[in-house]
Amino acid sequence: MNSAAREVWFVTGSQHLYGPGPLAQVAEHSQTITASLNAEATLPVRVVFKSVLTTADEILRLCREANSAENCVGLILWMHTFSPAKMWIAGLTSLTKPFLHLHTQYNRELPYATIDMDFMNLNQAAHGDREFGFITARLRLARKVVVGYWQDSETVADIAAWSRAALGWNESQTLKVARFGDNMRNVAVTEGDKVEAQKVFGYTVSGFGIGDLTDCMAQFGDDDVAKLVSEYHDTYLIAAEHDKPEPLAVAARIELGLRAFLTEGGFGAFTDTFEDLHGMGQLPGIATQRLMASGFGFGGEGDWKTAALVRIMKVMAAGLPGGTSFMEDYTYDFAGAPKILGSHMLEICPSIAAGKPTVEVHPLGIGGKSDPVRLVFTSPAGAAVVASIVDMGNRFRMIVNEIDVVDPPQQMPKLPVARTVWLPKPNLKVAAAAWIYAGGAHHTGFSQALTMQHMEDFAEIAGIELVRIDSETKLHQLRRELTWTDAAYRIGR
Ligand code: MN
Repeated sequence: MNSAAREVWFVTGSQHLYGPGPLAQVAEHSQTITASLNAEATLPVRVVFKSVLTTADEILRLCREANSAENCVGLILWMHTFSPAKMWIAGLTSLTKPFLHLHTQYNRELPYATIDMDFMNLNQAAHGDREFGFITARLRLARKVVVGYWQDSETVADIAAWSRAALGWNESQTLKVARFGDNMRNVAVTEGDKVEAQKVFGYTVSGFGIGDLTDCMAQFGDDDVAKLVSEYHDTYLIAAEHDKPEPLAVAARIELGLRAFLTEGGFGAFTDTFEDLHGMGQLPGIATQRLMASGFGFGGEGDWKTAALVRIMKVMAAGLPGGTSFMEDYTYDFAGAPKILGSHMLEICPSIAAGKPTVEVHPLGIGGKSDPVRLVFTSPAGAAVVASIVDMGNRFRMIVNEIDVVDPPQQMPKLPVARTVWLPKPNLKVAAAAWIYAGGAHHTGFSQALTMQHMEDFAEIAGIELVRIDSETKLHQLRRELTWTDAAYRIGR
């Protein structure tokens, strides 16, 4: 993804009441703020100052322009002065791009000794933004309100986080998910309404037979395969006992085929299932892991919702320190502060590896195929989030838990898969109960780059329900919240 080409438009609202002098000043101040934001390394997009809008026609025209501008992922709207908000109704109701309402003021300090009515008329975002806030509330529009002085790091961080959510949303609109085989038989949570998902998130999910993939794998010559196997040797550690030419060659051919299939088809995410691997030789392990590291989303066992989510999270996280992976709550350590060991049969992204991964070949208990090749590693300690999107029948719900990844208390020399150990917030007892009451899946998007704020901003833009599980979560409150939210969605429909 080339997020450098992505833009957020900075638009300032005003009116003609003040005359050309103040309006010129409003424009100048807006340009100064835009330049200041663009000087911030943390902003993942270019901020483009468009204009000071003073009439309903101008506002509508700009919103339509934003809708059709491919590089524009969202708008920052600021009422430097007072912009009567009926002027915004036509524009805002036609706007299809996300917007952030920036509530700031050009002057940091009040000039007590010199303040006069000219200053008051120019610097009146304090009430101009409230007028704008009313109309966005009255229109029930999804939005992010950021309050703070425009040079403060917290304000910039809020804008940066929202910009990342807008980038994720932009990706979601055109994302194509390839689905090899169906969902794992009888599993409920990985299912969902694909038509509704396309309506809500924009992405498409297309099914393919495994034969389509094996045809693609067969196109590669043995020299291509040998070249990729030697790349494995150069990139990872391979102990002599795992340096098995045949399984490595099978795995490399799967990677070549999968990568070509996804790239040629314009897919950004994929899913497969061990129940449907005719002619594959192995369940894709290292192939899926390396494709995730290249930016593809993935979900196991036909879980297309998580595959799309992992891709969107990777786009949101691009350029930030810390990796993003498909994840599964696997098993617990109830000793001491209870911890979760997250892993999967094979498919964890090496972007979350603390050191150089090892290539290992081990038998797989399920799937009935030959021993798959996989990368084994442990992820570094630090803050992270896990997120799950489930289909509640009348809506999508996203459940997000803030977690602290820790160094595993002991080595796990016999565990043949990549792993990460974490303490969920506020603790396992509350977090797991909250997750289960909310119906969160065992599959998640895991990120050491993103925070709750990124996920919350994305949920707001997407217009989906968000269940937050963090250090402040109280189970009795969360259970009431789930009941009330459920009622609200029934009424809303
Ligand atoms: Mn799974």
